[in-house]
Amino acid sequence: MMMFQRLIMAVICLLGMVFFEAFYLPTILNAQDASSESATAPSSLASGSSAERTASLVVAQSKISGACFPVVDVHTHFFIKGKHDQQLLDRYVEIMDRNRIAVSISLDGQLGNQLQTHTNYLWTKYPDRFAIFANIDFRGRGIEDDPSSWVCNQDAFVFESVAALRAQVKQGNICGLKFFKDFGLRWKNADGSLIRIDDPRWDPIWEVCGELGIPILMHTADPSAFFRPLDESNERIGELRSRPEWAFVGPDFPLRESLHQARNRVIAKHPKTIFIAAHFGNDAENLSELSEWLDEYPNLYVEFSSRINELGRQPYTARRFFEKHQDRILLGTDGPFPEQRLVIYWRFLETFDEYFHYSEKSPPPQGDWRIYGIGLSPQILEKVYSINACRIIPGLKAKVQAFGTGKGTRPAGND
Ligand SMILES: [Zn+2]
Repeated sequence: MMMFQRLIMAVICLLGMVFFEAFYLPTILNAQDASSESATAPSSLASGSSAERTASLVVAQSKISGACFPVVDVHTHFFIKGKHDQQLLDRYVEIMDRNRIAVSISLDGQLGNQLQTHTNYLWTKYPDRFAIFANIDFRGRGIEDDPSSWVCNQDAFVFESVAALRAQVKQGNICGLKFFKDFGLRWKNADGSLIRIDDPRWDPIWEVCGELGIPILMHTADPSAFFRPLDESNERIGELRSRPEWAFVGPDFPLRESLHQARNRVIAKHPKTIFIAAHFGNDAENLSELSEWLDEYPNLYVEFSSRINELGRQPYTARRFFEKHQDRILLGTDGPFPEQRLVIYWRFLETFDEYFHYSEKSPPPQGDWRIYGIGLSPQILEKVYSINACRIIPGLKAKVQAFGTGKGTRPAGND
């Protein structure tokens, strides 16, 4: 009987592995979606006019085989997207090698047991190639529709979070803290109202990060189209129809502007803490406003993961923005993404190529348009690729140096 049970278990395990290899891995490494915080690919991105038309335009196309300098990717998800799969990790490190990504920062180090699992997963084989930002679970084991049971509404929450951050920084496990967009959009107070980003309850968390010298990467709000009515005039309607949970319209949600303002008040109130606004502050469609924020708050930095779609459709404005704020911009991708997507990042940043796809997916997942390269100078590229990240994130510089300058450089632009 025991033998029979073991045999059945072995068959079930084998079937599970075959299914994973055949269906799941290819999805992550070859056809990942371009959303801002998505764990799964949308099944359909039908936009009404779903079929993409062929462009007649004939223009030069640069062949890019990797970034021109070693890169730090400050925005990746090796648990949310990578699911702690060893084969995925091995294959992604090969992609990092080919593309000169020295270090990927995984933002999935949730304080508690998951953090330990995450460090084991990333560092057992590749201690120099990954760094980890912590995040804090606001709900814990609380009941979903009873926010008074959520851990964030218990007295000890902030105190314990601060203590955990101190301990993990001291042990060298984390070099930053990540906040997801749920902070402001979904997490609730005990009375059921939405948590305020600038609630003074969280002040000790912002303060301790400044004291420990670790930055806070914060995802606040989302693209403006996600806060607009869901009709044909919405330029991201196809995407929102397939991902209705990304639509934040109506009385249940705060205004996008008020989320931005609350975040900015936190940044202003804690000048000794460095904040990295994820996805270009979710204001890549209004770079003059984002530029004003950077002018106003010297402790604010930005990273542009999943926003080359926006930046590349305004190449002149984007290029001026990168020139002006060259010391405050970090590179992020929101990966692990397939290699085709990474190459588009280098092409966008390093060349003046015209009218090309911002994603390997068809139809394009984040707006029905194509992009243009902004041809940054080698000096600016090196800052955006690694120098700025190494300056504000502890422990990175040694990892980038360990990657080796020998295999790390080639002339910018065309090969
Ligand atoms: Zn993300």
